[in-house]
Amino acid sequence: MQFRDLNRQYEALKPAIDAAMLRVAASGAFIMGPQVAELEQQLADYVGVKHCITCANGTDALSLALMAWGIGPGDAVFVPDFTFFSSAEVIAHCGATPVFVDVETDTYNISVDDLAQRFASLPPHLTPRAVVAVDLFGLPANYATLRQFTQLHGLLLLEDGAQGFGGSLGSRRACSFGDISTTSFFPAKPLGCYGDGGALFTDNDEWAALLRSYRVHGKGSDKYDNVRIGLNSRLDTLQAAILQVKLKAFDDYELDAVNRVADLYTRHLEGRVVTPTVPEAYRSSWAQYTVQLDSRDAVQARLKADGIPSMVYYPKPMSAQTAFAQTASWQAPCHNAAHLAASVLSLPMHPYMNPDEVALVAEKLIAAL
Ligand SMILES: *Cc1c(COP(=O)(O)O)cnc(C)c1O
Repeated sequence: MQFRDLNRQYEALKPAIDAAMLRVAASGAFIMGPQVAELEQQLADYVGVKHCITCANGTDALSLALMAWGIGPGDAVFVPDFTFFSSAEVIAHCGATPVFVDVETDTYNISVDDLAQRFASLPPHLTPRAVVAVDLFGLPANYATLRQFTQLHGLLLLEDGAQGFGGSLGSRRACSFGDISTTSFFPAKPLGCYGDGGALFTDNDEWAALLRSYRVHGKGSDKYDNVRIGLNSRLDTLQAAILQVKLKAFDDYELDAVNRVADLYTRHLEGRVVTPTVPEAYRSSWAQYTVQLDSRDAVQARLKADGIPSMVYYPKPMSAQTAFAQTASWQAPCHNAAHLAASVLSLPMHPYMNPDEVALVAEKLIAAL
């Protein structure tokens, strides 16, 4: 069994993907070919925002957003302590200070109460500028409450939807909740390509224009007059062509399929381990199906011996990362994040998993407890 079976997806989509790749190869338009702009329009329509700007990966997408907002030294950016490293890395990379915020143990997402406390106790030499909200494991963050908070305090909201693409809250889709939102097309994400890829989403015309400039060396209206310092961060045409095929499958049936897999897991596992919570009006895109249990490491070892792959996302919160030792030293600890890091386990999850496989994972997990 594979943790995320990308081969099965390729088998299902092979004729369309092969044809799309060959068309790009024959066209020779490897950089910024027509598929890139087509995909951007399709992604913007899917998410329900005015602008989509694709880029080289999900980490660059976050960096580009911070660049467009001019965030840098002296600025504080709030970020959940329990996330993938990129969410916090990009803040330090642009010279700003990440302020680690604890998460809720049921949704795994940022705690607005803890955010309020850390905002109130921010050292006076730092200027609060933005909040990075992560849609962890596919579940959108608590945007109704977050938006009230950021509006009240004049903070920018950056949605890190790297794992959240396809999720929703009410009638709104993930990657539409931030002032700027981002996603990643890393192969194992809910919508993945065959290499690295990413995208930004915004309704703001001015930021969209800035992002298009920053993505290509800070270009101005003349190709050889660069008006700002940017990045080389484009999405390859080949990846765009693959994503066009995969977006259709994602929308047609994959998102429904992962939700069926998740429901089945929960039916098998409820009461045995802490199963993931999806609050009323939310829909997850199930980047991961993550449970909480005692003696996690021993259980994982027993699963492995039974041929069941599993992963620990994430074993170390941001504040415990070696690279952030200095930054974390003056910040209050995040107890929920530390607890989760010691007790979470992510189970095999993808749209092509069949009910027998889900039952087998659940059976072996229950036996291993
Ligand atoms: C994967 C991921 C990223 C980074 O995406 P890349 O495309 O790998 O650069 C950022 N944030 C989160 C939460 C992620 O899971």
